[in-house]
Amino acid sequence: MYKEHSNTGFTKLTYSHMQQPDAHVAMRLFEDPERLVKQASDIFECPREELKPGKDHVAVHVVALGDYEHYGQNRNGDAFRKKACEDRHDTFVKSGHVFVQHDNQDPEKALGRPVKSAYDKSMGRIELVLHVHKDKGQDQLHKLASDGTHGFSMACYVPFDSCNVCNTPRRGPSDPNQCEHLRDHLGKVFPDGKVACMQNDYPTWFDISFVHKPADRIAYDLQKIAASGEAASYKLAEAEGIWVPDHILARSYDGYTEKLATLQALGAMEQFYIKTSEARPMGHDFFLWELRKAASVPTQGEVLDQLRNIDIDELMPALAKRGCILSPRDFFRYVLGPDYGEMKSAMPEVLNSIRSGVFSRLLKHASSREAVCKNIYFDVDEGKDRVYASGVDNDLCKKAFVEAENTNSVSTGLVNRRVIETTMTGKPATVVKQAAQHEDLHPAALVYAAYKLSAVQAVIKMANNIDDAVVTAVAAAQNVMA
Ligand SMILES: [Zn+2]
Repeated sequence: MYKEHSNTGFTKLTYSHMQQPDAHVAMRLFEDPERLVKQASDIFECPREELKPGKDHVAVHVVALGDYEHYGQNRNGDAFRKKACEDRHDTFVKSGHVFVQHDNQDPEKALGRPVKSAYDKSMGRIELVLHVHKDKGQDQLHKLASDGTHGFSMACYVPFDSCNVCNTPRRGPSDPNQCEHLRDHLGKVFPDGKVACMQNDYPTWFDISFVHKPADRIAYDLQKIAASGEAASYKLAEAEGIWVPDHILARSYDGYTEKLATLQALGAMEQFYIKTSEARPMGHDFFLWELRKAASVPTQGEVLDQLRNIDIDELMPALAKRGCILSPRDFFRYVLGPDYGEMKSAMPEVLNSIRSGVFSRLLKHASSREAVCKNIYFDVDEGKDRVYASGVDNDLCKKAFVEAENTNSVSTGLVNRRVIETTMTGKPATVVKQAAQHEDLHPAALVYAAYKLSAVQAVIKMANNIDDAVVTAVAAAQNVMA
């Protein structure tokens, strides 16, 4: 599906949470037979029988997309004109399948398919009826029934898109011939009132996927780990399958050597802090030892709450530019919520596993090390088309980033300031010598290690006013603080 098209055009994703709020994009179960009849006749203009699923399937109603004339462009900067919606909504039925997380390479993995599509002229929206297999879509249907909704995202192939201001076509985000409106001013309103956004006039929708909300995707994986249970089942073979989706594992990865070098540097510093936890060292070591004070300041809950609105793909580069690396506690509060949600009871064990020297232990454990170094889930792709970040630019987020910099940034000036402040106020900055409680690292500790390797590399690449040695020292110290 995806591959057939990839030689000429490109693929776009439209996330439900990135769409215009007033379009009321949503996904619901068709439970009420009365509503089914009404919807069938009003919107889908067909007899109810045509929408009814067979005994193995469940019908799901989706308000998929709002058109440009009614709602403008979405938060990605993508727009779909009325004509495109009207002419092309049926590609959902002709070419589409229902997947999970856009894992769309193998049709066998489909949970179902769109069976009916319509463009509702009065509302200016595309609506769909999906038939989802009861067993294959068990988890998603359960969430739909209990929460009343589920996050989703649609993939369409486009041969090109074009600028809303000057109509210049573009063959992809890195097209060298794209106009400056799309390249440099996405989202900007020009004097003639036109917004710089991408018009997609020939979309072919081939995938509608159940997805998790921003941080929830990682939380979901972690909760599966927690649910899978006992300490004895920390075997990596199981953990890997749980927390790295197949389609990510399958991608080739050539940054292994750099990741390993970062891991070695962090492992060495981690050991330094563990070894000096009892006796204050002298000379240059004393300088390094003092840096632990910069690693002991927690980020406020409301700041993390604000950051939770931002997708990890956007948060990673935004934090990296500001030199921020989240401590274990802050990372899990970002992912799971202020009180760690369903992982609450497991958190002391997870944090202990990290404190026991997660990096130095990884260096001695070949298969875990390989899994963590090959994990690209948190990697920052600088070349990625990411000009229109979802929440990154709003005022609340800007404020949250300033706060996050104060508590987290590893830029030299802010590190020095935190060291001085911690010293002046006499706040404790204690390194804990934590013995390993299990032979294997907790799978959630591996997730954190993967995050941190990516975050350290991104900061070294993207942040200003940093000293690599200080970055490594503070990042390692974060792991072993009380
Ligand atoms: Zn243009």
